[in-house]
Amino acid sequence: MNAWPVFGQPRSLLLFAAVLLTSDLALLCTGLWTTELRLDDAVVFAALVGCAAVCVEAMRRLGMPRGIPRDLLGAWWIPTVLLLPPIYALLIPIPVFTLLQYRIRRTIVFRRVCNAGVVALSGCVSSSLYHATLSGPWLRGGSAGHEAEQALVQTPGIFVAAGAGVLFTVVTTFVLAIAVRLSSPEIPWRRMLWDRETALLDGVEVCVGLMAAVLCGLSVVLLAVVLPPVLLLQRSLMYQQLQTAARTDPKTGLLNAVTWEREAAEGLSLGVQANRPAAVLIIDIDHFKRVNDTHGHLFGDQVLLGVAGTLTHQLRQTDLVGRFGGEEFVVLLPGADLAEACRIAERLRSRVGRMALPVGDTTATITVSIGIAMLGSHGDDLIELLAAADLALYRAKDSGRNRVCLPVPSADAARVPEQPRGTLPADGGPAGGVAADNASDPATDL
Ligand code: GH3
Ligand code: MG
Ligand code: MG
Repeated sequence: MNAWPVFGQPRSLLLFAAVLLTSDLALLCTGLWTTELRLDDAVVFAALVGCAAVCVEAMRRLGMPRGIPRDLLGAWWIPTVLLLPPIYALLIPIPVFTLLQYRIRRTIVFRRVCNAGVVALSGCVSSSLYHATLSGPWLRGGSAGHEAEQALVQTPGIFVAAGAGVLFTVVTTFVLAIAVRLSSPEIPWRRMLWDRETALLDGVEVCVGLMAAVLCGLSVVLLAVVLPPVLLLQRSLMYQQLQTAARTDPKTGLLNAVTWEREAAEGLSLGVQANRPAAVLIIDIDHFKRVNDTHGHLFGDQVLLGVAGTLTHQLRQTDLVGRFGGEEFVVLLPGADLAEACRIAERLRSRVGRMALPVGDTTATITVSIGIAMLGSHGDDLIELLAAADLALYRAKDSGRNRVCLPVPSADAARVPEQPRGTLPADGGPAGGVAADNASDPATDL
C-alpha cells in the first residue's frame, strides 16, 4: 500500500487538507511567538502525553476492532484544552497520532495527518475561546493556565469549561465529517454525525475529560488517580466494539452468516415451542456479477450497502436480517404466516427494485429474487428451511428473476414484473409482465 497516496485523493479533499494544515501551522507559529513557555506547563503536557500513550498501549494489547474504532483519548485532549495555553492543544496530537500510527495500525499517512490536524485545530480553537472567556489573552500563555485551574474549581468556571469541552467535541466531529464526505461522498451525513450511542459516548468523554482536568489542575500527580478508571472505561468500550465487529458483516453492517444462523436457530426453536408460525427468506441480487463488471466492485459494494439499508428499513425490529455471503441476504420473520411472509417479501423485492443508485451522472437500478420457506410446511428446523428457501430461490431465478417464489410450484403463480428504468437487462433481454408494488395483495404474487 502506498502510505502517501496524496495525489490519488479527490481535489476537494486535498484543498481541505491544505487549508487545515496551513491554519494549524499559522496558529502554531503565532502560539510559539506569543506563548511564554513555562516548566510547569511542560510538565503537565508531558504527563498528559504519557497518559495518552498508556491508553494507546492498552488498546494495542486488547486488539483493535476493524473500521474506525471509538477511543477515549478525549480524556487527555480536554485537559490540554482547558489547562494549558492553546499551543499545547496544537502539539499534543503529534506524539499521540504518531503512536496510533506505529503502535496500533499503519493506515494511510495522509488520513492520519488530516485526523491529527482536525483534533489540533478544534483543540486550539476551543482552548483559545476558553482562555479568552476567562479573560486570558488570545493565544497567549502567560497566566492563562493558573486562571484556568482556579476556574475549574468554581461553579461558573466549570460550566465554561464544560462548554469548551463540548465545543471541542462538536467541532472535531463536524470537521471530520466534512473530510470524510469529501473523500467518500456516498456516506450519508447521519452516519458521521451523532446517533444516541455516539452522543452518549461523546458526553461521557467530555465528563471524563473534565474530571481529568479538575484533578490535574489540583495536582498533576492526581492524573494517576484518573488513569485507571479511564483505562477501564476504554477497555469496556473496545470490548463492546470487538464483540459487535465479531457479530457483523463489515461491508453491510448486517449480522454475519454465523451469527445470523445461530440467532435464527434460537428464534425458530422458540417459535416451535410456542407453536408460532415463522418464515425464512433468501434474497439474491439478480445479475450482480454484471453490476460489478459494468460499474466496478466499489459500486457493487455500494449496492450491497444500499440493499442492506433498504432491507433493514423495511423490516420490523423483531425480524432478523443477515448477509449470508456474496450478494445473498437472509431474513427470519418470526410470527409471520404465509400471507404475511409473501407480503413482506414482495414489499422487499419492490423497494429494492425502486432504489436509484447513483453512478456517474446517472442512476442504475437492480432487482432481487426471493425464495420463501415456511416453518412447518417446508421444514422443521433452520437447515431444512434454508434448503427449502434456496430451492424456492432457484425457482425464482429459473422463471425469470425479479420475483418471489415458494419451494413448490402449486402455490406460486409466478409473476414477472416489468423491468424498471435503468435496470441491467436480464438474460435474453428485458423481461415483461405486470409491474407494481402490490405489497397489499400477496395473492396475485404467490
Ligand atoms: P444471478 O442473477 O444468477 O444471481 O447472477 P449473479 O451474477 O448475481 O450471480 P453469480 O453467483 O454469478 O455472481 C455473484 C457475484 O457477486 C460474483 C462476485 O464477484 C460478486 N460478489 C460477491 N461478493 C461480493 C462483494 O462483497 N462485493 C462485490 N462488489 N461483489 C461481490
Ligand atoms: Mg448468489
Ligand atoms: Mg445473484
